[in-house]
Formats: sequence, structure tokens, C-alpha cells
Amino acid sequence: MSTITVQNELNVYESAEARFEMAARKLGLEDGLYKYLKYPSKEITLYIPAALDNGKLEVFKGYRVLHSTIRGPGKGGIRFSPDVTLEEVRALAAWMTWKCAVVNIPFGGAKGGVICDPAEHSHAVIERITRRYTAELSEWLGPERDVPAPDMGTNEQTMAWVMDTYSMHVRQATTAVVTGKPLDLGGSLGRREATGRGLLMVTNRALAKLGRRPESTRVVIQGFGNVGMFAAKLMHEAGYKIVGLADISGALYNEKGLDIPAAIRWVHGDKKPLSDFSGGARMSAHGVIFQPCDVLVPAATENQITSDNAQDVQASILIEGANGPTTAPADAILDEKGVFVIPDILGNAGGVTVSYFEWVQDRQGFFWRESEVNERLQDVMDRSFDDVVRYAESHKVNNRIAAYMVAIDRVARALKLRGIYA
Ligand code: GLU
Repeated sequence: MSTITVQNELNVYESAEARFEMAARKLGLEDGLYKYLKYPSKEITLYIPAALDNGKLEVFKGYRVLHSTIRGPGKGGIRFSPDVTLEEVRALAAWMTWKCAVVNIPFGGAKGGVICDPAEHSHAVIERITRRYTAELSEWLGPERDVPAPDMGTNEQTMAWVMDTYSMHVRQATTAVVTGKPLDLGGSLGRREATGRGLLMVTNRALAKLGRRPESTRVVIQGFGNVGMFAAKLMHEAGYKIVGLADISGALYNEKGLDIPAAIRWVHGDKKPLSDFSGGARMSAHGVIFQPCDVLVPAATENQITSDNAQDVQASILIEGANGPTTAPADAILDEKGVFVIPDILGNAGGVTVSYFEWVQDRQGFFWRESEVNERLQDVMDRSFDDVVRYAESHKVNNRIAAYMVAIDRVARALKLRGIYA
């Protein structure tokens, strides 16, 4: 496969575009459709005034990008982080379109972000930011318009505030306007674990395909938040040996395996930094991804594997938990090394899949058992994995480009059927 050229490797939008372009070219997508699918349908910039705890007024910049509503309402998380940029949110919104299409759920793609550091602000300030953000967007959101969810820096409580603010504006309780809500407010069983569980499911599938067994598989997981923590917990319970683990404070590595239940209690129960946990050699959160292992799960943030360091990845299977952990120019290096890659838009799609189940349950007003949620998730992840891997094999492209091709093809077919309203 030809190398992808980008101007600035660390610009996620360029990486997203480069993969889209390559897949569209291989699909022979006609020029008009290419342009239609490349650009977002709407980008909203908001200036959010919020009183700080000292009484002073601050203004936070935020965005909501609606990439596509071709296959259904916009869908995608809201990110609170000091590093948010419009280009990043634009890339993440497009990835949501492809992610929803690759797992074949009836949504388009969207993403939101607010430039703020949740660790620096009280609960009350975050609540005010969230409510004002939601109020400003209220006419664009809705169960049939655009359905947010948690992402980096936001959680179930944030989603409860979104649901309440939207409901107050439309004068009716509208649980289906947002997913990833608390269980007491129309949330779904299994949603909290869903991204981690989806990662486990695709890893199991990859192992079965490659003739390997969990017991003899060493795993490094970078990230110990909602995604990485549940991936670690569920993979540990499934018999994998977790040899490396990282959170924002640093990483630990032990060839013999780390005590995962104790690490979870340490970080998520006692709220202590992972780097102070014992049982392994300490290193940087970035360094751990180059340690010896069989499966690498980057589940933290973007741009971890680049053309400068892809050569040093020792894993033979890469399962992307974060969005955009690998830059476009690194793809060819991983291909050359023969790494079996499950790209983000497939690997971490368990989250949005159970978001879809939550939306369905809210609209039905009828809630499923956790085992039903997990069984349906298994069906979706298995089918999607098979669709992508089969496509990659028959079209002689890597798994990432195959995932994009499957997704773009589905969206383009829907677009052709709808036609262009003029
Ligand atoms: N933020 C998650 C993602 O990037 C979940 C999105 C959703 O559930 O809508 O996939």
C-alpha cells in the first residue's frame, strides 16, 4: 500500500483525511460524493460564559461538529479538555460517522468539545459550563437530531446535566437526547463497561483468527480511565496476562503480569496515582507502549504511535481503544512489520454500540437485562470484525483502510438513495 503523505503528522484531522482519501480512492468514490462526505455538515462554535467559584466570570470556547446525518441522527461524545481544537473535534466527528457505519448502527457522526480542564474546576463550575453549552445547542440536539455521549473529561453526571437542561428547554423529560447516562436516568446496563468489553471481544476474535490463546498472551494497556480500566479488568478476567499499564501519572511494567484487581482498587478506589502502585518497573506512560508484549491497547489519547516510533512497537496485535492513537504515516510501518491492527473505528466501537442500545431502550421505555445488552454487543462486534477482516483480505488492503471502505460504502449507498435535497 502506498505511503500516506500529510503535512503535519500530529494534526489528527490530516490523519483522518488521509485515511478517508485513500479509502475513497480505492472505492472509486465519485468526486461529488467524495466532497460531500469529506466535509462536515455543520460546525458550531460557542463562547460559554460561566461564573467561577470566586465569583469571577470566565468564558470558555466550545464546539459541536455535526459531520453527517445521512444514516441517522448525529452521534458522538463531548470532550472537556484544555487541548480541544476545532480541527480535532472535526476529525473526531468524521470518525464517529465511520465508526457508526462500520458497526452498522443507524446514526451519523458528531462530536463536541469544550476547552477547559475539568481537573482545575469544581463540580459546580463544570455543571454551569455543561448546562450553558447544552442550552446554547438546544435547537440542534434531540433524539432525532444529534445525540451526545461522554468522552474524555466527561462522565455520567455530565450526561445527566445535558439531559436535564435539554428537557427543561423542550418542556418534557427526554432521556434519549443523550447516552452514557446514569442507570437511574435511563442509562443502560453495560454502557459503562461497553468500550472495554468491545475491545476484549475484538481481541478474542483476533486471537482466534491468528490461532492464539489468551493465557499465553501478554497485553500492554495505555490508559486507565473508563476505557483502559475496563479493558484491563475484563481482559484479566478472561485470562490475559496484563504486563503493562499506564495512566497520566506514569506506567508500570512486569513481564510476569500485574495485579489488576489491586491496581483498580488503588487508582479507582483509593484515588492514588498508578505510578505509586507496586509490582512492576516504573516508566513513562508513553514508554510502556514499546515494551515486549503480544497485544498493545493504546486507550489514552491521540498520536501515540507515529512514524518516529512505530518501528519500536513490539506487539504483533494492535487494538486501538483511543480515537486516533496512530498517525497516518505510521500505518505503513506497522503494515511492513506485519502488525495485525484493529483500528479505532472498529476497536472502540463497543461504546457507541451500547449507546445505540441505550437510545433504543429509552425510546421504547423498556429496559434490557445486562446479559441481553452484552449478547447483542457480541453479535455486533463479531459481525463487524468479520466484515472488516474479510473485506481487507478480499480487497488486499490493511484492516484500517478496509474499515473505512466498508463504512464509506455504507454511507455513500444511503446518500445515493436519499439523493441531494436542493
Ligand atoms: N465518545 C465515545 C466514542 O468516541 C462514545 C460515543 C457515543 O457513545 O456516542 O466512541
